Amino acid sequence: MPLKLVTVPCLQDNYAFLLHESDTGETALVDAPEAAPIQSALESRGWKLTHVFLTHHHWDHVEGLPPLREAWSPTVIGAKADAGRLPDLDQQVSEGESFTFAGHDVLVFDVSGHTVGHIAFYVPDAKAVFTADSLMALGCGRLFEGTPEQMWASLSKLAALPADTTVCSGHEYTASNAAFALTVEPENSALISRTEAIKAARQAGEPTVPSSLAEELATNPFLRANLPAVKAGIGMDGATDAEVFAEIRRRKDNF
Ligand code: ZN
Ligand code: FE
Repeated sequence: MPLKLVTVPCLQDNYAFLLHESDTGETALVDAPEAAPIQSALESRGWKLTHVFLTHHHWDHVEGLPPLREAWSPTVIGAKADAGRLPDLDQQVSEGESFTFAGHDVLVFDVSGHTVGHIAFYVPDAKAVFTADSLMALGCGRLFEGTPEQMWASLSKLAALPADTTVCSGHEYTASNAAFALTVEPENSALISRTEAIKAARQAGEPTVPSSLAEELATNPFLRANLPAVKAGIGMDGATDAEVFAEIRRRKDNF
């Protein structure tokens, strides 16, 4: 039962993802920023849309849904905790729950911080987690609604997944994230070489999303707030992990 993963660039810098099971012919879309590129990604492969997983209510993740719904009548799944702000849901899910897509488990994590009610979908059979604006490539979402403590707890859950998990995040912000990450850890050699790879990819017009959890753990400053060397590097020896995360997030907001 091989699941196929396809990245679909949408709008200016958003990503949606398709997950396709060839045995059953089912296809799930994660987030719906823009209908047209998603429609053509489906049509060019001869896939039919059966499910939509929504990560959070922001317009750039849901605005493409109405025409897709009209065309395919997919089962739309999103957070019970944010049902009041999301489009109408066919299925509501919460932290710790799992559901089945095309015979595969999908685990739901509450990853509040960017918004309260933001969820991530983890599909072990695909070795992929869909994080949208929680954990991002070399970054994390801005804290519009949640507290630093909440986002740190959310990121810690994602950090505990297997290191070979593919991180499917919502935006192409990686180059500017890299420039900031280097201010936190200027001597991190994994970060220095990843930054070079990101520059090369962007010059070639290639996406830097998805990434792997292993590379995020090695280079993403927002996942590294618990490391003594990172704490010392920003002058916060002895501070709690959440305090260090909050300071790194504050610096990024002003970067
Ligand atoms: Zn967002
Ligand atoms: Fe977004």
